[in-house]
Amino acid sequence: MTKSNLARSNPGLAALADFANTRDDKQAVARFLRIHPGFVDEALKAGWPAMAQRKIVDPLNLASGAPLPDAPPPDRFAAIEQLPEDETFRLFRDLTRAAWSGSCKDLDLLLFTSFDESKGPAFSRADWQRGGLTYAPRNDFQAALYELLKSARFAKVCINPDCPARFFIAADPRARFCCKECATTFQRQAKLDWWNRVGKKKRAEKLKKKKPTRRGK
Ligand SMILES: [Zn+2]
Ligand SMILES: [Zn+2]
Repeated sequence: MTKSNLARSNPGLAALADFANTRDDKQAVARFLRIHPGFVDEALKAGWPAMAQRKIVDPLNLASGAPLPDAPPPDRFAAIEQLPEDETFRLFRDLTRAAWSGSCKDLDLLLFTSFDESKGPAFSRADWQRGGLTYAPRNDFQAALYELLKSARFAKVCINPDCPARFFIAADPRARFCCKECATTFQRQAKLDWWNRVGKKKRAEKLKKKKPTRRGK
């Protein structure tokens, strides 16, 4: 197995992987919400308007509540008000997938959006004891996203296009497949593609050389 124990020993990361790997259909969405009650509820409740209204706080400019400097243009979230729950679910899932694929912009959006205004926005605070900054997540979803960031080196997307669960935490940062089956399937497919693209021609050419046609040039 190429999957790491990190995901198994970290329930937040495991839930986040499940979230990213949830399929489009309503049943899959309902299944996730049943298995991980409360995990994305705050985000779903705040919904897409929370993003549209730019409830994102720049930790360095708390007073003005200005958006992050590299937040995406507002039109990306504009004009989306009330959406069915499964649609909002997919929008947040897709942001999570983008974050998992290394998009810091999308990760910033998720980490610093205030989903529940009564709790205030999540941001970094100075931590004298540890000698660094501490991120203060406001819910399990944001806590898991921060775990993802800390494990960024191991956060991988399986390169087998037919993989049913592409987003995984690898044991080895060089890993490209989530499991042995995916590696085998992909390599078999790659060989077949090579054969169809190159191999067939090569064999035909070889045969031609052995039996040259009489037609001269
Ligand atoms: Zn895979
Ligand atoms: Zn697999």
